[in-house]
Amino acid sequence: MEEIKVQQRDIRKEKPDQSNLPFGQYFTDHMFLLDYNLEQGWHAPRIVPYAPLVLDPAAMVFHYGQAVFEGMKAFLAKDEHILLFRPNKNMERFNQSNRRLEIPEIDGDFIIQAIQKLVNIDKEWIPSGKGTSLYIRPFIIATEPCLGVRASHTYQLLVILSPVGAYYSEGLEPVKINVETSYTRAVRGGLGTAKAAGNYAASIKAQTEAKDAGYSQVLWLDAIEKKYIEEVGSMNIFFKINGKVITPQLNGSILAGVTRDSIMELLSNWGVPVEERQISIEEVYEASKNHTLEEVFGTGTAAVISPVGELFWNNHQMIVNQGHIGQLSQRLYDTITGIQTGLIPDTLHWTVQV
Ligand SMILES: *Cc1c(COP(=O)(O)O)cnc(C)c1O
Repeated sequence: MEEIKVQQRDIRKEKPDQSNLPFGQYFTDHMFLLDYNLEQGWHAPRIVPYAPLVLDPAAMVFHYGQAVFEGMKAFLAKDEHILLFRPNKNMERFNQSNRRLEIPEIDGDFIIQAIQKLVNIDKEWIPSGKGTSLYIRPFIIATEPCLGVRASHTYQLLVILSPVGAYYSEGLEPVKINVETSYTRAVRGGLGTAKAAGNYAASIKAQTEAKDAGYSQVLWLDAIEKKYIEEVGSMNIFFKINGKVITPQLNGSILAGVTRDSIMELLSNWGVPVEERQISIEEVYEASKNHTLEEVFGTGTAAVISPVGELFWNNHQMIVNQGHIGQLSQRLYDTITGIQTGLIPDTLHWTVQV
């Protein structure tokens, strides 16, 4: 690949108030761009001032949704070191998504280098408060102007950066979740295993209805029987029942989270029994009734761990751990965030310095 051209802004933007950073609303001074066409493949890597894009109204992404994305974070560690968390995992998944959507694969190592360069240029934007980070959003869109339904012949890859605050301002607050019994997010053979924009388009209506009913998220069941648990909005899900931790196995419609993978590795290192298997909502309901449902938590890059205090399914209300965060959830949160920010030795070699 060619060298990354850099065109910096003359005047930097004003930075937002660090003590109140809503998720994904402020963007840094620069962005990374990379183009694709059939003749040259991926080419013209460049860092330019953050600005709106100019796209043809017939660009295929607007009509047929050929778009994939990733989500990762940069953390300010002690001694002003900047750390990324398992970026190679995100790049592997980026290409898995690309393959599913017929988007040409990218060179993951090169994109990590580009991210490092971009984060360095905009490093003054990385917030320093506890729980804060610089959210990194790489994404690819189909840009060819054509209304025929087929894979686009041109694409653009972009990386934008957004300073984000602590997901929970006052400690880890358990959330209330509605178990969705009519809508479907993804079905085996569909796009569920890809981080594709369209999966979110499919999920918004259920999310809105859950919010209106007082729940913060949706728990998705399998599309066919509405029986087996899949995942939450943008998180994977774990249950601690009778001392054992259970998470749904990757079945062809669940997104394989990097946080999910990290949690399973930590648990097995700690000697906590962890099972990756089919788990039905009835099993969780039974466990709740006979008081063996000890903890429930969602996992994802944005929140790391999101404890669940209540599940609502078919008119049954299941209160988890009296609505408090569980011990294991807290330990997992402290360990992962500790590794991410360099406070805990990274014996698993998960962090990469920028
Ligand atoms: C991104 C995402 C997750 C979480 O993945 P992480 O790599 O842990 O951030 C889970 N489910 C869906 C649908 C997602 O898009």
